[in-house]
Amino acid sequence: MIIIGAGGHGLSLAYHLVKKGVKDIILVEQSRIGYGSSSRNASRFRYHFYSKENIEFALEGIKYLISQKKELKYNPLIYKTGYLWLLHDENLIESFKKLHSLWSSYSIGGKFLECREFEFLKVNGTCYFAPQDGAFHHDYILYSYYEEIKDKVDIKYAKVSKILHNNGKITGIKLESGEEIKDDVVIVTAGVWSGELLKTANINLPIYPDRKEIFITEDVKFGIKPLVIDFKREIYFSHTLKGEIIGGIEKEDIGFKEFSISFL
Ligand SMILES: Cc1cc2nc3c(=O)[nH]c(=O)nc-3n(C[C@H](O)[C@H](O)[C@H](O)COP(=O)(O)OP(=O)(O)OC[C@H]3O[C@@H](n4cnc5c(N)ncnc54)[C@H](O)[C@@H]3O)c2cc1C
Repeated sequence: MIIIGAGGHGLSLAYHLVKKGVKDIILVEQSRIGYGSSSRNASRFRYHFYSKENIEFALEGIKYLISQKKELKYNPLIYKTGYLWLLHDENLIESFKKLHSLWSSYSIGGKFLECREFEFLKVNGTCYFAPQDGAFHHDYILYSYYEEIKDKVDIKYAKVSKILHNNGKITGIKLESGEEIKDDVVIVTAGVWSGELLKTANINLPIYPDRKEIFITEDVKFGIKPLVIDFKREIYFSHTLKGEIIGGIEKEDIGFKEFSISFL
């Protein structure tokens, strides 16, 4: 079979298929291992999503992530730091009361507290703290998978330009170089590029890139333990164990240049 994309999903799939004894896997990557989002993210995990489906998925996923610690070559350094939400108004507090009962029904309830209890925050008001959430080192997971499969999977560094098909059946892929590889199983784990690639097989899925900004500072003294989510300013940020402050902004039209984090 052919897997397109060596990000977290493609590598994990290849790793687990090899473990099950599947042979003749070709993994095609246009650039390098983890070139997409899998090596450029905030490295956080959380249970505290806003729908039952996501919570249940997270409960299983995180259990599996923790169990992988024993199996992987590199330690993914999983640590629980918590998530902290700044609740700026009564509406948000009301929404979080409902979420709190949902989360409590899964035994992952957090607590409401004064934001000032966190010394690094110069903010008055109510916050919600979920201590169960945390962080891990995504690169160690990617490279653990890579180490396990590199001699068992045919990894090709090339860009796939087309998924080949005939009479409604998948027949292989075409690379940018013009080379064709025949196979009746093609799995697309190409991240945000998946939508474009699938169109070449006449499959329309609503997968498209959505540009986000992420910032990272130089190392500063460790002080921000949880990941902080601020809905009003539409940002999130946290502190890595190494010492960088890392965060993202949702409002793409504003950008960090015009954005102040003076409340820290
Ligand atoms: C800024 C940011 C912060 C994030 N923070 C978090 C977080 O804290 N916690 C969390 O759980 N998730 C986070 N995410 C989401 C997470 O990183 C992604 O969901 C995950 O990495 C997606 O993995 P993937 O393997 O599907 O895609 P990717 O990692 O993007 O991999 C796709 C791969 O396919 C390859 N590819 C694409 N097209 C082709 C082609 N035509 N031919 C050959 N190869 C191709 C690419 O080069 C790439 O290597 C964040 C994402 C971003 C962008």
